[in-house]
Amino acid sequence: MSDRHSAKRPPRPDDRPIVVAAEGSRDDRVRPFSLERVPVRGRIVRLGPMLDEILALHGYPEAIAGQLARLSALAALLGSMLKTKGRVTVQARGQADAPLSFMVADYRAPDGPGEAAGLRAYAAFDEAAAARLDEDADLVAWCGSRGDLAFTLESGPKAERWQGIVPLVDGDLARAAEHYFEQSEQIPTRLTLAAGRRGTALAGWRAGGLLIQHMPTGGNEEREADTDGWPRVQMLFETLRADELLDPVLDDDALLWRLFHEEGVRVFAPVPLAHRCSCSRDKVCAVVAELSSDEREHLIGEDGAISVRCQFCGRAYHLDPSDFATVEQGG
Ligand SMILES: [Zn+2]
Repeated sequence: MSDRHSAKRPPRPDDRPIVVAAEGSRDDRVRPFSLERVPVRGRIVRLGPMLDEILALHGYPEAIAGQLARLSALAALLGSMLKTKGRVTVQARGQADAPLSFMVADYRAPDGPGEAAGLRAYAAFDEAAAARLDEDADLVAWCGSRGDLAFTLESGPKAERWQGIVPLVDGDLARAAEHYFEQSEQIPTRLTLAAGRRGTALAGWRAGGLLIQHMPTGGNEEREADTDGWPRVQMLFETLRADELLDPVLDDDALLWRLFHEEGVRVFAPVPLAHRCSCSRDKVCAVVAELSSDEREHLIGEDGAISVRCQFCGRAYHLDPSDFATVEQGG
């Protein structure tokens, strides 16, 4: 969110609806919206307390925490576009010798109406190499020039799997994600992400993201004649500053109104988000069963149990090696 935002900024009013004691937190949710005068749909995400839960599980350097926070916001934006139950996973994959070898965030659709969607994330990095990088280093510096971004969708009744891979365009997560939309959906898309510590006395982590898409006009003559519509909306989009996206006092609806009120904003039911890991004893057993007996041997601790720790949530699983020996004899 740097240079392109400072270039040209049309004036816009600073006044906005006064939000009096908003009920409950407006953080940790995705708000879908559409514009009335232009065929644009979008969504905005704000992550607050949930992000501290995710990041506190691992001792990440600040710069890695920032990248992971943005990746989490991206996964929430994309995941909330799922029309059915399913999962969206976004992975930044570094080349072999990169400071950041791997970073993943995944979104699991809510189990039912009113339920929260699950979000989890973690990063694997080389501590010494990470310490040598600047805090504002871009993703290419972190992952190497051969690093990439992989988007995996699992949805539908049979959990069909679809994967798209794009390069780390400009070393920027949002630009790479825009590139992904150009390739996969061929719908003009703009996306921006921000992360940082803000607001509270404890200076908790915050992240935000805004995505807009120019939809087909559907034969609407008035909209077709408005050839300036999409460029106009993009100019408004470009006025958005990182500090607005991270401002804990400015809620998502007030921010949408501030940006797009001239185009008419309609908001839809928000998707609440919760930090949730989907690991389980059964899933861990299935993974361990796939390993060779040598690999399993390496996982046996002093207590004689196979010890496996979930990389996302840190939960430890202790399994009895004899359970797997039987499987091997049988196979
Ligand atoms: Zn877990």
